[in-house]
Amino acid sequence: MTRTHLAAFTAVIALLAPGALHAAEEVNVYTYRETKLVQPLFDAFSKDTGIKVNVISASSGLEQRIKAEGTASPADVLLTVDIGRIDDAVQAGITQPIKSEVVDRVVPAQYRDPAGHWAGISMRARVIYASKDRVKQDAITYEELADPKWKGKICIRSGQHIYNNGLFAAYVARHGEAKAEEWLRGVKANLAQKPSGGDREAARDVAAGKCDLGIGNTYYWALMMNADPEKKPWAEATRVILPTFAGGGSHVNLSAVLLAKHAPNQANAIRLIEWLLGEPAQQMYADANYEYPVRAGVKVNPTIAGYGKLSPDPMPVAAIATNRKAAAVLVDKVGFDN
Ligand code: FE
Repeated sequence: MTRTHLAAFTAVIALLAPGALHAAEEVNVYTYRETKLVQPLFDAFSKDTGIKVNVISASSGLEQRIKAEGTASPADVLLTVDIGRIDDAVQAGITQPIKSEVVDRVVPAQYRDPAGHWAGISMRARVIYASKDRVKQDAITYEELADPKWKGKICIRSGQHIYNNGLFAAYVARHGEAKAEEWLRGVKANLAQKPSGGDREAARDVAAGKCDLGIGNTYYWALMMNADPEKKPWAEATRVILPTFAGGGSHVNLSAVLLAKHAPNQANAIRLIEWLLGEPAQQMYADANYEYPVRAGVKVNPTIAGYGKLSPDPMPVAAIATNRKAAAVLVDKVGFDN
């Protein structure tokens, strides 16, 4: 090879290099979900499409990380749970609209960002773990949790935890701040103890007789019952009641996908997002996480189906997000956690 040839050859390689990287076909997913829960799903995607999925998993700080990486961020897709974290990511300015007819068709409008920055892929409801022995009623409203008949009978985690913040924000969205404040005072007055622990501990405390109603997400009860022998007695002492807002439905939160603002593999990212909404993936994902598939017609896990038919509150999740701050302020104002 002559010098000229070599130079030309090098130039061609240099031109090809970025393309060659893309030709490797990959997509980078940043996620708060445990790797063992999502890896089988990504393996199936790779098998279907030939696109490699690189997973970066963390329990916190992903938004800050993506923000710090800036335009050089390798992040394509952010997979996260709860409108609190979803909204934080959007507020951090690290996302862009997902342009996809599939997303618009499959995901009901109430589970999508009107501006397109996020889309739900599965749902969880915030429900009651009721004492099997001491609670006779089969239906309950969120409003009723403030009824003095439950005085000293409710266990719940911190009012500032994102799961409660979502529920309380939904209450504000539905009833307004003044009514929500009154309700929060009523719920606080009914607490058996200072808010503490997590959702599983609410079931634990019901099982121990400290309270009659625990507040928790749908999937924790199923996990305790099916996948955690030590905590199985907590599930066995309780049953799940799907509460509704008076005249409405059950408060539902999301597991969702967001498209990173500087996604280097944007086409593959959209492909992954659309694939996650396909029937097999919906089935696999919802089943692995004990969540409700967002796609209509996909079967719900039998344990979850055993709670009864979920009738989700029609309040758009985006409208709940706009009341997060108000809910947090009210929690402090009524001294909910004190
Ligand atoms: Fe959780």
